[in-house]
Amino acid sequence: MSRSAHPAGPRHADVLTEGHYSAPAADLNVLDEKVWSRTVTRDTDGALTVGGITVARLAEEFGTPAYFLDESDFRARCRAWSDAFGPDADVFYAGKAFLSRAVVRWLKEEGLNLDVCSGGELTTALDAGMPAERIAFHGNNKTVAEIERAVEAGIGRIVLDSFQEIVRVAHIAQRHGVRQRVQIRVTVGVEAHTHEFIATAHEDQKFGIALADGQAAEAVRRALSLDGLDLIGVHSHIGSQIFDMAGFEVSARRVVQLLAEIRDEHGVELPEIDLGGGLGIAYTSEDDPREPHEIAKALSDIVTRECESAKLRTPRISVEPGRAIVGPTAFTLYEVGTIKPLEGLRTYVSVDGGMSDNIRTALYDAEYSVALVSRTSDAEPMLVRVVGKHCESGDIVVKDAFLPADLAPGDLIAVPATGAYCRSMASNYNHALRPPVVAVRDGEARVIVRRETEEDLLRLDVG
Ligand SMILES: *Cc1c(COP(=O)(O)O)cnc(C)c1O
Repeated sequence: MSRSAHPAGPRHADVLTEGHYSAPAADLNVLDEKVWSRTVTRDTDGALTVGGITVARLAEEFGTPAYFLDESDFRARCRAWSDAFGPDADVFYAGKAFLSRAVVRWLKEEGLNLDVCSGGELTTALDAGMPAERIAFHGNNKTVAEIERAVEAGIGRIVLDSFQEIVRVAHIAQRHGVRQRVQIRVTVGVEAHTHEFIATAHEDQKFGIALADGQAAEAVRRALSLDGLDLIGVHSHIGSQIFDMAGFEVSARRVVQLLAEIRDEHGVELPEIDLGGGLGIAYTSEDDPREPHEIAKALSDIVTRECESAKLRTPRISVEPGRAIVGPTAFTLYEVGTIKPLEGLRTYVSVDGGMSDNIRTALYDAEYSVALVSRTSDAEPMLVRVVGKHCESGDIVVKDAFLPADLAPGDLIAVPATGAYCRSMASNYNHALRPPVVAVRDGEARVIVRRETEEDLLRLDVG
């Protein structure tokens, strides 16, 4: 069918018949609770509210673009994870997803532990009062200064990622007269993303020490031989935005096999295993994430079964969800600036942010949803691409979505599930001012990370 065959029809008809995306939801005004945080709803006037506050008030008080984080949802998710895993396991929140001092205090109050992967994250955690023994330090190239600081602070564990680091951490610990608790990060040959996993992934990546060619066993040998190290376990992290538990199953089996080999060779049963993070969340209505209790049961069943068959004592399990805790708790609020209908293609809707506040679409082809939130509308759905204001044609926030055809400049639209890896990966591209993060709870909103100002830009630029 040629485009001119239905010039008066819906302007997205041709694109739709190519079948790249699903049809619009029956009613664009309905907010799918899967992708919005728990206290989000529409008020009687049709405006979106979070924690009891309407987006119009939030926009007026805090401006746009801005991230609004549903604090009670965040806390509820922390509790769901720690309740699901119970007292015989440890939940470490992966701070790289989003970290601020307020977040650290919530984690502390809700009983979670914390993963950091840089000196900056460590400083934030310690400054906000997270006890050092509840912090784990990750990364493939921790600097000597970072390791020093972590050891001095009495950090709970350092996850060793290379042969050089085994020696470095041992020396630093000895110099401080301590035995540092460590785990060894192994690459189990499993790579998992969303609905697929590969059990024979090659070890061609920068993280971890390979299990397959005996390197991991050699790393264990060295760690056990060094006085400065207290090797408490083995760590594995297999990917991100994972829905299928099969990848974790293979990974857990291989990690338990390694524990059995260590027992056979050294006569020690390491007390812990860490199965990493990577659990998926709903970005669009098509995603069906598992609940924490299902994940906990699946993981502990696998580990228990594998340990029974290897005649090992079941180790203490830890997990490291980042996205699955903070991702669903926040949305980004934007104001619509310009609207460009491209006949026969789609309508480009430009917002006042873009790749500087959400790089995930450009970086990973990530999918997001979007909704008109300052009002409801009975207009027909129109196929849109939500784009930013940056000088880059890849500056796309939401690649394909439907918004009401009467959308107009000045309307507020929101992109849900932007709590993870959006503010933490935000940039100053085009000298954009990074947006604030505002925590909303029980009718109160407070800034936890303030908006950058032009003075901030000039202060860094020392001429
Ligand atoms: C990134 C990362 C996580 C968290 O991943 P999510 O997808 O946010 O759950 C956990 N552990 C390690 C080692 C990581 O690198």
